[in-house]
Amino acid sequence: MNYSPDPARYQKMNYRRCGNSGIKLPEISLGLWHNFGGVDVYENYRAILQLAFDSGITHFDLANNYGPPPGSAEENFGIILKQDFNGYRDEMIISTKAGYTMWDGPYGDWGSKKYLVSSLDQSLKRMQLDYVDIFYHHRPDPDTPLEETMAALDLIVRQGKALYVGLSNYKTPEFNKAVAILKDLGTPCIIHQPKYSMFERWAEESLLDALEEHKIGCIPFSPLAQGLLSNKYLKGIPEDSRWAKPHGFLNEQYATPDKIEKVRELNVLAEGRNQTLAQMAIAWLLKDSRITTVLVGASKPSQLSDSLKSLENIIFQESELAAIERILL
Ligand code: NDP
Repeated sequence: MNYSPDPARYQKMNYRRCGNSGIKLPEISLGLWHNFGGVDVYENYRAILQLAFDSGITHFDLANNYGPPPGSAEENFGIILKQDFNGYRDEMIISTKAGYTMWDGPYGDWGSKKYLVSSLDQSLKRMQLDYVDIFYHHRPDPDTPLEETMAALDLIVRQGKALYVGLSNYKTPEFNKAVAILKDLGTPCIIHQPKYSMFERWAEESLLDALEEHKIGCIPFSPLAQGLLSNKYLKGIPEDSRWAKPHGFLNEQYATPDKIEKVRELNVLAEGRNQTLAQMAIAWLLKDSRITTVLVGASKPSQLSDSLKSLENIIFQESELAAIERILL
């Protein structure tokens, strides 16, 4: 069936400026780490992408290694871009990354100029694009000089293969150094992508303050702790869940009984706000104006619809925030 986007899509979403850059991002962005790869069902991920765009989601986040197999999420996204979103490229912010293992040998991993430049070339081919909007270094490399990695990002922008650059998984001290190098090169970092949720709070220690000071955007990933911050695991492990999938990264080491008990208590609190726990977890991030957009995943359209409803209430009473802290202690 031919797809034609909902003309009312931009009335359904709020957009926040990304740091002091020229672009705004939707309060919710869609990530393609899981559920869009070669192992996944075409009709399902196509429907998720259509729903996202129809809901005002303009930002789609990928990486070279998303799949499985690695690269397949970019390939599948490229096919659907051509098929359904032809003519809408200029309404989208598409990001990709390099930094984790992608191909064999010494040049398919970490942060060398050799790796980043060739990886982005491969990503562009897979997505059938001339450029991406944001290119990230996916994780810091302890061995490559930061100057080289940042010079690679600068080069990529000057080559016209990316419009903006971002950093992911950088802790504050190395992030501050990288930001200074990029500034000197004339290619500012516009966004940081940290893991941040009610269960993962390191960004609060100093990163969020640094982002505010540098006027750089923030896009937290895994806001639902990969699905744990929802009601789905309260009665065991559903068959079709990420936890049950062999290629998933959610397991009992992370989802301890103690955590599940906290989830149960948070779920009661969310019900008191007339929200699902997933909605409350997203709203809890968006209550902070330093957060530009929350990067969610979804394995079915109904989950994305549910998550989008978080935008109906992102305000918390002090008593609710205190209750959340008591549970998370
Ligand atoms: P989430 O924490 O949002 O987890 C998504 C999963 O939660 C879904 O696959 C689904 O699990 C479940 N879920 C989603 N919505 C709901 C809902 N409303 N109710 C109940 N369950 C729900 O994010 P991800 O871990 O998927 O990460 C999001 C994105 O962040 C990635 O796609 C990627 O773009 C980015 N990312 C970046 C990283 C980095 O290093 N920079 C690392 C990891 C992610 P199920 O499949 O079980 O149904």
